[in-house]
Amino acid sequence: MFIGVDFDNTIVRYDELMYEIAAGWGAISKNTSRNKTQIRDSLRKLADGEIVWQRLQAAAYGSRIGDAAPAAGVETFFRFCKTRGIPLCIVSHKTEHSNLGESTVNLRTSAMTWLRQHGLVGGGDCGIDETAVFFESTRAAKVERIRNLGVTHFIDDLEETFAASGFPPAVGKILYADTAPRDAREMLSFATWRGIQEHVEREAAAAGPATGLSDRG
Ligand SMILES: [Mg+2]
Repeated sequence: MFIGVDFDNTIVRYDELMYEIAAGWGAISKNTSRNKTQIRDSLRKLADGEIVWQRLQAAAYGSRIGDAAPAAGVETFFRFCKTRGIPLCIVSHKTEHSNLGESTVNLRTSAMTWLRQHGLVGGGDCGIDETAVFFESTRAAKVERIRNLGVTHFIDDLEETFAASGFPPAVGKILYADTAPRDAREMLSFATWRGIQEHVEREAAAAGPATGLSDRG
């Protein structure tokens, strides 16, 4: 097994943070639910809603990312994989800078700093090597990276990643989402990282014992 993982909204969750920023701007009512999709839908009803939404993403993915939380269970999953010797990599569609809003903030540097601060990159018990983190400027480049790395599974919060042309058909598609996929034919969907971990555990057990000792770097 070799598992690739998306970053935004898969490893890091922006729901609470986006609520705090958007409410602070007065762009959403206080009773909007603390959910990224609902915040987006609510903003898009405004006259300049699409721009506000893009500025909100720029702030959340950039200068404010330090206040974003890891998805529940993701650290446990990384620790589990490291203990079992299952290699992980991160492949993210992320430009260096946002077109709107805080254009001087480097979004990739911000993401890498966040990963280090949460121990998901580095020598700790759940950290992967920095060289296993890839930022790509387009979705097509992300898909190409996934293909070239030769991962056996990919975990993403967006079905669009799996549906993109060139996505390797042999890669196991694991959707991390609260709602069932629109097209469930070829993918497994889990609302929690715990569910994903149990699935990987079952597949790893079926594949036999891990070939190597864990790398505790
Ligand atoms: Mg994502």
